[in-house]
Amino acid sequence: MERNQKVAMVTGANRGIGLEIVRQLAREGVLVVLTSRDEAKGQAARKRLGAEGLDVVYHQLDVTDLASVQRLRESLEVEYGRLDILVNNAGILLDNGIQVLDVDLDMVRETVETNVCGPLLLCQALTPLMEKNGYGRIVNVSSGMGQLSDMGSGNPAYRLSKTALNAVTVMVAAQAREGDILANCMCPGWVRTDMGGSAASRSVEQGADTAVWLATLPDDGPTGGFFRDRKPIPW
Ligand code: NAP
Repeated sequence: MERNQKVAMVTGANRGIGLEIVRQLAREGVLVVLTSRDEAKGQAARKRLGAEGLDVVYHQLDVTDLASVQRLRESLEVEYGRLDILVNNAGILLDNGIQVLDVDLDMVRETVETNVCGPLLLCQALTPLMEKNGYGRIVNVSSGMGQLSDMGSGNPAYRLSKTALNAVTVMVAAQAREGDILANCMCPGWVRTDMGGSAASRSVEQGADTAVWLATLPDDGPTGGFFRDRKPIPW
C-alpha cells in the first residue's frame, strides 16, 4: 500500500455497476477491495481487472450475513487499519412487473434485507474505521424508483427499499456531520446490466460515474444528498 493511498470497499462488485465502480476507483489510484457474495465470481472479476493492469484486492462479503460483515471489518482493520470509502452497491430487484397490491410480503422482506439492512449494517460496522482517521465517504447506490416525488405502483419491494435506503443515507449523514464523513446516495440511471437489461439507455461507465464522483468528494463536498449525473435530484 502506498503512503496516503485511500482504501475503498465496494459491495456486489463481481459484475455490473459495482465492478465498473471498482475499475474507475482503481484507475484513480485508490486501493480497492472488491467484494462479492460468491468467491469464485469475485475472484474472476478481480482477474479480469488484473488483465487490464488494475490490481485490486478481493474479499468475500454477503451483505445479509453478519458474520461475513464482521470478517470483512476485521480484515480491513488488520490489513490497513482504515477504510476511507464505502460504496454500498449490492442490490436485488425481485418484483419487476409486480404491483403493490399483489406483492408477496416475503419478497418485500428479502429485498429490504439486502437493499436496506445490508447497507445500514455496513455503515454501522465500518464508520468507526473512518472516524478513527477523520475521513470517510459513503455512497449508497439507490434508484430513481425510490423517489417519493415520482412514486408508482410497480416494483413495490424494490421502490420501498430504495426510499428506505435514501432515508438511511440522510440519517447516517446527520450522525456523521460532526466528523469528516460525507454520506450521499445516487441514482445511476437505467443501465445495461443483468438487472437493467440490454435495452437500458446507459453504459456501466455512465452508471458508475456519479458514484465515483461522490466516493472521491473533497472535504467541502455535499453530504446527505441524492444525486444523478453529479446533480441533486428530488427525494
Ligand atoms: P446487477 O448486475 O444485478 O448486480 C447486482 C450485484 O449485487 C451482483 O454483484 C450481486 O451478486 C450483488 N448482490 C446481490 N445480493 C447480494 C448480497 N446479499 N451480498 C452481496 N452482493 C449481493 O445489478 P446492477 O445493475 O449492477 O445494480 C447495482 C446497483 O445499482 C443496485 O443497487 C441497483 O439497485 C442499482 N441500480 C441499477 C439500475 C440499472 O438500471 N441497472 C438502475 C438504478 C439503480 P451475485 O452476482 O452473486 O448475484
